[in-house]
Amino acid sequence: MLAKRTTKFKPSITVAIAQLARDLRAKGQDIIGLGIGEPDFDTPEHIKQAAIDAINAGHTKYPPIAGIDELKQAIVAKLSRDNSLTYTTNQILVSAGAKHSIFNTIQALIDEDDEVIIPAPYWVSYPDIALLAGGKPVIVAATMEQNFKITPQQLEQAITPKTKLFMINSPSNPTGMVYSAAELHGLAQVLLKYPNIYILSDDIYENIQWNGKSSNIVMAEPALADRTIIVNGASKLYAMTGWRIGYAAGPATVIQAMTKIQGQTTSGACSIAQFAATCALNSDQSCTTKMLAAYKQRHDFVVDELNSMPGIKCLPSDGTFYAFPSIGER
Ligand code: PLP
Repeated sequence: MLAKRTTKFKPSITVAIAQLARDLRAKGQDIIGLGIGEPDFDTPEHIKQAAIDAINAGHTKYPPIAGIDELKQAIVAKLSRDNSLTYTTNQILVSAGAKHSIFNTIQALIDEDDEVIIPAPYWVSYPDIALLAGGKPVIVAATMEQNFKITPQQLEQAITPKTKLFMINSPSNPTGMVYSAAELHGLAQVLLKYPNIYILSDDIYENIQWNGKSSNIVMAEPALADRTIIVNGASKLYAMTGWRIGYAAGPATVIQAMTKIQGQTTSGACSIAQFAATCALNSDQSCTTKMLAAYKQRHDFVVDELNSMPGIKCLPSDGTFYAFPSIGER
């Protein structure tokens, strides 16, 4: 008999849809997979070359559990450059994708029956990763009328003595919406009243946006830095989904606990992929320009076409590669 744990959560729906598309393609059918958030671009050449160089240089041994120093330093530099945030390398953990970073964060923070506040619409994996840790997802719904963003009042109403973690994803999967600095500041003022609540800021789509540049909650309210875990990674921006590199930046005590968990699970992320991600973060970012232009062009096309269909309404996104239409009036 399988452990009860295996029945507490659902398998990833997006991964299942991607597999179905792969199976149908293998049978010769012409399938366009729109289920999983995956760039159709190849990883840029200079990043691939960095991986080849790492292999040739013999970087094929166990890496340090928390990540190679070169990559942790590149992440610290990125957080300073893009976010004006100051971290040291002992506040960084490199993992096998941003999903793994989220998993480690939740495993390190959530005890049985702890509540995890998740604004909806949300990325399908959040509640299941919380359930797997024994936590209780508390879903706070944001409607299309509120641009799919929750208000400070909604956040405060959802907080109970059992609330342990608040998760925020901006730009959002699946709505593509971005919280403004003022909106983040409003949410932060609520969180400041509850010092026992941690925050997970999933910034994986941070640099895929076109209406200016977004903030995250720590940038909007630096006083939350000592209880916020920022998650990001190489998968989306650099078309590196298969390389499996994500990272977390946060308070050293939490990062240390997450590293301990990682030390008894994956022993860290692939050494070769870490060298590739170091190159991605440290080199000129112009390789992303072409991809961003294509995402915006596709966004405009898809949103216009959806809105031209009777009974369908789709708000334009601020970023990501998602469209979240309402078919409610059909
Ligand atoms: N966070 C969000 C909001 C996502 O949409 C995804 C992937 O779809 C991830 C995290 C996971 O990213 P990774 O592929 O680096 O594990």
